[in-house]
Amino acid sequence: MTDGLWSPSLLAGRPAGEPSVLPNFVDGVFDTSGTHFDKVSPVTGETIRYVTEADRSTVDGAVAAARSALRGPWGRMGERERAAVLYRVADELERRFDDLVAAEVGDTGKSISQARTLDIPRGAANFRAFAEIVSTTPTESFTTPTPTGGRALNYAVRKPVGVVAVIVPWNLPLLLLTWKVAPALACGNTVVVKPSEETPSSATLLAEVMAAAGVPDGVFNVVHGFGPDSAGEFLTQHPDVDAITFTGESATGQAIMRAAADGVKAVSFELGGKNAGLVFADADLDAAIEGSVRSSFTNGGQVCLCTERLLVQRPVFDEFVTRLAARAAELTFGWPADEATANMPLISHAHQDKVLGYYDLARTEGAMVLTGGDIPTFADARDGGAYVRPTVLTGLGPDARVNREEVFGPVCHVAPFDDEDEAFELANDSDYGLAATVWTRDVGRAHRAGTRLETGIVWVNTWFLRDLRTPFGGAKASGLGREGGTHSLNFYSELTNVCVDLS
Ligand code: NAD
Repeated sequence: MTDGLWSPSLLAGRPAGEPSVLPNFVDGVFDTSGTHFDKVSPVTGETIRYVTEADRSTVDGAVAAARSALRGPWGRMGERERAAVLYRVADELERRFDDLVAAEVGDTGKSISQARTLDIPRGAANFRAFAEIVSTTPTESFTTPTPTGGRALNYAVRKPVGVVAVIVPWNLPLLLLTWKVAPALACGNTVVVKPSEETPSSATLLAEVMAAAGVPDGVFNVVHGFGPDSAGEFLTQHPDVDAITFTGESATGQAIMRAAADGVKAVSFELGGKNAGLVFADADLDAAIEGSVRSSFTNGGQVCLCTERLLVQRPVFDEFVTRLAARAAELTFGWPADEATANMPLISHAHQDKVLGYYDLARTEGAMVLTGGDIPTFADARDGGAYVRPTVLTGLGPDARVNREEVFGPVCHVAPFDDEDEAFELANDSDYGLAATVWTRDVGRAHRAGTRLETGIVWVNTWFLRDLRTPFGGAKASGLGREGGTHSLNFYSELTNVCVDLS
């Protein structure tokens, strides 16, 4: 096991002594042999762990273990038995709550309060939700007349797809990982997980949780590493992987789709976004401003669902922009372990460079920077971190790169519109189609937004409110397929129709 890896010192973005080594987990065994890479704290810039990079043979071993586990006790379990295992996983996740919080806060620099209220509870909730969904979702059945005047009975059975590769990003590591692993296991598959190189810890801790909950060896495997020419690519190109579920950038999705084409593998993609928030003059303005602060700056703006394009109806534009910028300027940075901290750094210095590059580009393109646009200073260890200030921009047209490309940081551009048609048109003028948020008191307009906005999710007078049974996913370059509820079951299972002539 990996005792001693989950030190509370991680909460401060520093190791307690020499950084520990994070292992791969293959066929029930933790293994630190091989080469290692540094995991750096986004809070201080210090190396907090060394991570064992899985080479091709480790990935081969993980896929072989997952294949073999399909033929073991796991493959013989019925839905109810698997659901019972998932409930135990959820219980064990809650028992390891403090360790998971330390792992997640250490890797991401997110606030302890967010990890405690969102990231870790949602991890447990995902396992319970899919234990329930798989136990209660029926399959279809039809009777059919036969040519001889008799009848045939058709019924569908769900079977596992097989070995599923699970590749996830760094922004909500445990939440997004369990959103895939829970339904995959509920449907009887085995998984090989490749967490982001930036957030290797909670996936490794989940391996401990799986073992303690009685998940058989080989059912859940973790391989660490990067994308190209590393564990990510070794996994997606592996001929013995049956399906790939991926959350990350749209460009990475394209690379994975090319790899999946070779084996005609099923893919499920949750990709990038450039989400619009529409504020109509009839909206509750206080709620719209507070909601937009949340939707643009939560998790340092590093949520695929975050709003980067705010469109505000002209009569309330000036007041909205002034108040939004004032609220953004109030978002100060505490230490992650301080309960009062709501804000966080970016994940890495590389990502900090990218976001600062967009702040510069916005100026070059002619934007007015109403607040932010630079990095904060602290006069303590956080000056080594990857912080940028929350930023509100105006003055750019819809074709500016800053209005078209996903920044994935704490930034939004605010533009005016005159009427509903123009608002929907501007919102839809994007290569992406993940989520939109509409602030209005007009019930008819709310429902029109639901049908006219070209996104997988439309929120009205709220943001980031999720019922795990509902379809989740993106249109256009934001994804392929839907996850959530029975939609997940359909991706993670192979449906077979059995047709029996009853005569
Ligand atoms: P990323 O695409 O760079 O990396 C995601 C994962 O893919 C990582 O584990 C990485 O190592 C791996 N990877 C990279 N190249 C690969 C390759 N060629 N083959 C196989 N694996 C490869 O994304 P990121 O920077 O970690 O995450 C941010 C992105 O994720 C943003 O675009 C964001 O919008 C998106 N995202 C989308 C959703 C959603 O539900 N739609 C949710 C969260 C994040």
